[in-house]
Amino acid sequence: MRLLIWLVLIYVGIKIFKGIGRQEKEPAAPTGPTKEETFQDPVCGVYVSEDDAVIGRVDGERVYFCSMACLEKYRAGLEQK
Ligand SMILES: [Zn+2]
Repeated sequence: MRLLIWLVLIYVGIKIFKGIGRQEKEPAAPTGPTKEETFQDPVCGVYVSEDDAVIGRVDGERVYFCSMACLEKYRAGLEQK
């Protein structure tokens, strides 16, 4: 029975130790605005990061959308004009 308790303690200890190690590897939380660039979806107004955005090319310019649905709405709107 004592062995089981020790195993649990060691297991918990390793978990805590790993948790601390992970925290130390992460860079310090940035103060002020984040450096990551965000782009506003012109259709629904949502801000998206470059990684998450659906990028459409309109007249040679990159336009960022939150989803393909917004990209298609935007293109449909341009065609109507
Ligand atoms: Zn959108």
